[in-house]
Amino acid sequence: MMIADLHMHTTASDGVMSPEALVEYAVSRGVTHMAVTDHDTLAGADALRGRATPIPVIPGVELSMADMHGLHLLGYGMADAQELRDTLEKLARHRLTRAEQMVEKLDQLGFPIDYGALAAQAKGTVGRPHIAREMAKNGYVSNPEEAFRRYIGDNGPAYVAARRLTMAEAIPLLRRSGFVPVLAHPAEVTQHHLTLRTLLDKWAGLGLMGVEAYHPANQKMGCANIDRMARGMGLIVTGGSDYHMAGDRHGLPGCMACRWPNCEADVNRLLEAIHQL
Ligand code: AMP
Ligand code: FE
Ligand code: FE
Ligand code: ZN
Repeated sequence: MMIADLHMHTTASDGVMSPEALVEYAVSRGVTHMAVTDHDTLAGADALRGRATPIPVIPGVELSMADMHGLHLLGYGMADAQELRDTLEKLARHRLTRAEQMVEKLDQLGFPIDYGALAAQAKGTVGRPHIAREMAKNGYVSNPEEAFRRYIGDNGPAYVAARRLTMAEAIPLLRRSGFVPVLAHPAEVTQHHLTLRTLLDKWAGLGLMGVEAYHPANQKMGCANIDRMARGMGLIVTGGSDYHMAGDRHGLPGCMACRWPNCEADVNRLLEAIHQL
């Protein structure tokens, strides 16, 4: 039986495990097929490329979109993707500047953070979870979740938006680069089925190829409902835990597989699409 997890983060972005350790951990939890999808970088996936891993690892990336709050786009592919890499590099560089700006705002609020410690913790792209963990380490909040709730959440006093692409830019960019574009955690965008359907129609028109129906955040809408909608539109269905670290709001490796009835056929469909791009 296939147990797939196509959405996980490593220390190349805001996860806590190295790519190598993540594979071991996923295998220990029964995962048989996985993808590494770090924010704005292929570094996590690259670390495993050409290596003899105990299970197949699909290279991936997760991009934050400018169009709407909570809108993230996953890309899966095996091509060299130079144009995509150039764009990712710019986004990653901007993330450093943005982290610096957030550290400055926190300083003004009376929560000094050593930017050096932050940059050292972030081995790849820097994100808010790094800042949240640093705040908890300094005793400013009792846990990273509280840092988001009080200071660095999207409406928080120390929040600075990261530079983001639009769907109209990112979907064609991924496809030109040999990467299959998949909408991440749709329930983070909208929990209304009709709204989702309208959005999917629009994005499918731009070349969107798949929808992550099986994600912890989707459970409030019903993963099976999203699956049915996506499949009915001819889109590829995917799933993953969005694992970053234990005890946060995301899941653990492999946690969605038992809810994903057509896992094997869907993963094979994704692989075929990657090879055909
Ligand atoms: P960034 O891409 O730097 O804006 O950070 C977004 C990331 O922060 C997401 O991918 C999650 O990993 C994490 N995140 C966002 N909101 C929360 C929250 N309320 N609690 C914990 N982690 C969060
Ligand atoms: Fe994240
Ligand atoms: Fe996401
Ligand atoms: Zn993610």
